[in-house]
Parts: sequence; C-alpha cells; structure tokens
Amino acid sequence: MAKIKSEKKAPQGLFKKCPKCDYSIYSKELEENLWVCPKCNYYFRLDSRRRLDLLIDKGTFKEHDSNLTATDPLKFEDRISYTKRLDQYKNKTNLNEAVLSGEAAIADSKIIISILDFSFMGGSMGAVVGEKICRAIDRAIKFRVPLILVSSSGGARMQEGIVSLMQMAKTSAAISRLSEERIPYFSLMCDPTSGGVSASYAMLGDVNISEPGALIAFAGPRVIKQTINEELPPGFQRAEFLLDHGMLDMVVERDNLRETFKKLIVFFSDKENRQ
Ligand SMILES: [Zn+2]
Repeated sequence: MAKIKSEKKAPQGLFKKCPKCDYSIYSKELEENLWVCPKCNYYFRLDSRRRLDLLIDKGTFKEHDSNLTATDPLKFEDRISYTKRLDQYKNKTNLNEAVLSGEAAIADSKIIISILDFSFMGGSMGAVVGEKICRAIDRAIKFRVPLILVSSSGGARMQEGIVSLMQMAKTSAAISRLSEERIPYFSLMCDPTSGGVSASYAMLGDVNISEPGALIAFAGPRVIKQTINEELPPGFQRAEFLLDHGMLDMVVERDNLRETFKKLIVFFSDKENRQ
C-alpha cells in the first residue's frame, strides 16, 4: 500500500504554488524565470545565496565574517529561549546569521556586498547583522570599491532589545563615513524591507532601488490603518508608490538587476559623476 501511495505522489518540491494567483509552477521553470510567477508576475522571495547568484559574476564571491554569531545579552525568552531559537534557525537555514557578506565582482568590477536573508529570523537586524554591515562598509572604504546592500527584513531583532536598536545608529553612522569618502553605495530593497532596517541604512543609498511590488515601510499598513483610522490609498507602501512619491530612485525588474548594477558601477566610477 505504502509503495503505491508514494509512487502516485509527485516528488516533493517539484511544483511550487504561487501565493498570489495559486498557479502551480514547475520548480525548474520557476527557477529559469528567476523565481517570478510566469502567470501573474509575483516575485517569490529569494534566499541570500540565490540573490547572490543573480547579481554577481559566477565564482567570484569570497565570504567575510562567516564566523560571527549572536550572543544572548538579555537572556531573552518568549515561548523558547533566544539561544534555542537561534539554533533552530541555524539548523533550518544552514546560515549562521541573517546576513551574508563578502566581496565579489559584477562585470569584472570588484564590489563589497551584504545580503539579508529573510529566512533567518525574518532578516532581522541584531548586533551581528549590524556589525557585519559595518565591516562591509569599512571594507568598501578600504578597497575603495562600490558597496551593495540588499535588504529584506522585518526590522530590528526584538530578542536583542536596545542592542538591536543601536544597530540603526551604528550602521547609519558608518554609511555617513562611506559618503564622506565618496564611495558609492547602492541599496536594493526587496520584499519586505521594514522597521529598523528601512529606517536606517537601507534608505540611505546613493541610489535606492527596489523590485516591483516590494513592501517598503517603517510601520506596516495594518498598524497605520488602525492608528489613523482611515482607509489607505491603493498601493500604499509598495515600491511603485514610493517611487511616485520620491522615496526611491528606481524600480527594477529582477532580470534587469545585474545589468542595472553594472551600469551604475561604471557611471559612479567616473570621478566626474561623483562630484
Ligand atoms: Zn502567480
């Protein structure tokens, strides 16, 4: 019986269901389409490794600071302890923390890149994420190469309390040092970029970029709606709305991101354009 059952069942992970239009997509087709639904154009969230592959020249990534892991300064406990929760996410995602950092090349130009991974505690920013972002910034200054920070985050990591909120000031201050050194910084905000991440380094790019339809917000729409007790305009806090209201410089389709970064790197490497 069991054998017949397993034969009838499609192998796990062969098809993915689009959360927006319910269309079942063959995983390979979805991957070839860069994890964008071919039917409704819904953007699936990418983990940091897939995101990296999408942006950089193959085989050029050298990871930095992979050994940094969080401590539990507050001995925080909700349903389970923070330490236990960290272990669970490490096992589930095979990551040490919510950010992947390193150096790489895009069209043969060296860059420093850090990518938040939403699958690790919602891409939340605690002391390690803040520290890794700052070290990435310091390296961009040291090597005098462009910095790319890719965000997808629920915001500050509540389990680290004030220590996580401090990362907002710490990363913003580091970005201002980068700016004084006239090193270009491109910020790519993916769905969702919210809370303490949107309110600190993510919005401070020399060029602020987003993918179509991404939610970019400090407090989310539900909280705002409840607070002001009014209907929100259509598309509120989505990338296109932010572009129309001057909060973003460009909204770029996924298949055009690499080309866009390539052009930006060339444009900003010309000293005339950085004056
Ligand atoms: Zn769809």
